[in-house]
Amino acid sequence: MVKTALITGGGRGIGRAIAVAFAREGIRVAVAARTAEQVEQVAHEIGNGAIALVCDVADPESVTRMFTELREQLGDADILVNNAGIAESATLVSTTDELWHRHLAINLSGTFYCTRAALPAMLKKGWGRVINIASIAGKTGAPYIAAYSASKHGVLGLTRSVALEVATTGITVNAICPGYVETDMVSRGIEQITTKTGRTAEEALDSLKKMSPQNRLVTVEEVAAVALLLASDEGRGINGQGINIDGGTVL
Ligand code: NAP
Repeated sequence: MVKTALITGGGRGIGRAIAVAFAREGIRVAVAARTAEQVEQVAHEIGNGAIALVCDVADPESVTRMFTELREQLGDADILVNNAGIAESATLVSTTDELWHRHLAINLSGTFYCTRAALPAMLKKGWGRVINIASIAGKTGAPYIAAYSASKHGVLGLTRSVALEVATTGITVNAICPGYVETDMVSRGIEQITTKTGRTAEEALDSLKKMSPQNRLVTVEEVAAVALLLASDEGRGINGQGINIDGGTVL
């Protein structure tokens, strides 16, 4: 039977790559984000009945509307990929209330709202996959990213608890924890490093690569490959995990 996947943050970067990889395996995909043009472009490129949904995952009403539209157009989600996320850096002292709440609202509450909306149909079917794109910043700390790191630690706590709650129901809940991945998010990070430190973009990129023992950034396709495994029937024994894709940065 053809499975349906909802991928939040599917307009670019990691979410886009997961949508492309899923569609290639015959999974019907819905990509969601705030920027309509980006998700429409991705759905158009994928074809095969892929749809675009506009949603702000930080807004529970917007999430409810997204699931209603998904149900009307493709049916319920068998696979939910909670990938929508933001990352902004600041020292703890210069972290404003807005920056702090924005990270928790999008990265953590967004994952909660979408998972809560997706689970009832999965429980009814007795099959489901929830894949949360967390980060190695959800397992370890680093300077200047307290809000981001706290939100991703929260995603791992949510992942582990829900995984145990549904363990006997045919549903698995896991997180993927990448190191630095080649996306716009990292390009924006490099811009910020160059502005704040006066280093060149090349030097900033090198400093991020050096965080990995493999001295390189992860590609979006590497993240998509692990998402595919977690989405598969063969991946059904993997539950409650946070799988690092970081070249061995966090052991
Ligand atoms: P990206 O290129 O900036 O893409 C982020 C996606 O999330 C976009 O489609 C964005 O679209 C969407 N998004 C952001 N806020 C949203 C909201 N409130 N509601 C709905 N969609 C929203 O970032 P990426 O690098 O692909 O990151 C994807 C995920 O991987 C994030 O959770 C990130 O924390 C995680 N991650 C990334 C890295 C990395 O190095 N790149 C490493 C570890 C983990 P709109 O702005 O149009 O809404």
